[in-house]
Amino acid sequence: MATAQTVYCGRCRKAVHYHYDPVNHWTQLLLTVVTLGLWLPIWLCVAVSPTKLCNECGGPIWAEM
Ligand SMILES: [Zn+2]
Repeated sequence: MATAQTVYCGRCRKAVHYHYDPVNHWTQLLLTVVTLGLWLPIWLCVAVSPTKLCNECGGPIWAEM
């Protein structure tokens, strides 16, 4: 049973279905190593709150108003 949740997309100017951008942890690990650990907080943020992406235009949905 798929949940049919929608959020408002500012680009499409309507309620749209969304999906989450899968986090590539290998890329995040590589960035963390390259930046000597400076990327770690960003990695954690991305892992805890994945970005919602609009199914219609593919853009990120930041506000849920
Ligand atoms: Zn959209």
